[in-house]
Amino acid sequence: MSETTLTGGALPITIRDATKSYGAVFALDNVDLDVRSGEFMTLLGPSGSGKTTLLMVLAGFTRPDYGSVKFGEREIVRTPPHKRDVGMVFQNYALFPHMSVAANVAFPLKLRGVSKQEMVERTEQALETVQLAGYGERRIDQLSGGQRQRVALARAIVFEPRILLMDEPLSALDKKLREQMQIELRRLHDKLGMTTVYVTHDQREALTMSDRIAVINHGRVMQLGTPEEIYERPANRFVADFIGESTFLPVTVQQGVARFGDQSLKVAQMPEAGEDLLLMLRPERLQLITNDSEAADGEANRFEARVREMVYQGDSFLMYTVLENGTEISLRGMTRRDTVSTLPAIGDVIQLALHRDDTVLISAEEP
Ligand code: ADP
Ligand code: MG
Repeated sequence: MSETTLTGGALPITIRDATKSYGAVFALDNVDLDVRSGEFMTLLGPSGSGKTTLLMVLAGFTRPDYGSVKFGEREIVRTPPHKRDVGMVFQNYALFPHMSVAANVAFPLKLRGVSKQEMVERTEQALETVQLAGYGERRIDQLSGGQRQRVALARAIVFEPRILLMDEPLSALDKKLREQMQIELRRLHDKLGMTTVYVTHDQREALTMSDRIAVINHGRVMQLGTPEEIYERPANRFVADFIGESTFLPVTVQQGVARFGDQSLKVAQMPEAGEDLLLMLRPERLQLITNDSEAADGEANRFEARVREMVYQGDSFLMYTVLENGTEISLRGMTRRDTVSTLPAIGDVIQLALHRDDTVLISAEEP
């Protein structure tokens, strides 16, 4: 494809063995990852896990020590950034503050030698796409944070790149605007259809926006899956801890019975004997059983606990409880009248019920 070609379908990305070290630190450690054509893929991980490094390898600003990156059939590891047909949005906008909105957006077209008239048309179209029609003559410093991020987005998509890369683009915005922009970005992706790789450290953002999520830690992909797979069936303790809130109970398996201490457990799937396992407990999957409330059905595991603290959070409440062995377990419930009217007091002994179908056992070994 020549540099001035502006149309083309979405492209899959194939990453093999991508490795990058800085001294003793492996920012990327043998990463294999396939991003499907037109997919919204999120790289999710804590600070320092290698997300930006991987995105920079895709953009062409970082050369991996070894490994292969293909856009479609084409190997691009040695291709310079401006020849990769990739649009980029960064956290800090990276706009030219002294130039107008239109001049910022038109910049990639200018680099690509697009004619004046086409430049004007495409710039207007891109501004319309990000809901900034009519803002072309404004200066960047006259815009709010959310508007600046929209300009950055317009600049990234104005040349219709086949791949869009975004590095924590919403993290400078306040919560409400961020949540609104998450939905907007996802809609825009669906409309334009380019392959998108999105970086965030915010698990809720990743769950909200993505077709699939690659959970990254120490430069390695810990798990790749849909939001539901990642949340419901985390592959290891790191993923279970990083996505959502959980507590873990140690579980042993002997003679076909899974046990927590001397309590036998009803589990959805019986694991192999001999493994050291953890039962994952999510606060919203536990049911509160008090003397007044109905008993849990026979398919539930029950854990006796003492109520230590209650936190009111508007739409829901969080109850901190302690098992006899000292393990702290939290339970979340909605603040509906029927649930709130039967809430126990601090110090009360209650039962936490976990249905068989909600049991998730994960390996206790660190990945
Ligand atoms: P993330 O974006 O997930 O926060 P990064 O990809 O920025 O993580 O960094 C991954 C690791 O590589 C970190 O330990 C970071 O300190 C290191 N690193 C990244 N870029 C450089 C660099 N240019 N020089 C030295 N170390 C770097
Ligand atoms: Mg980063």
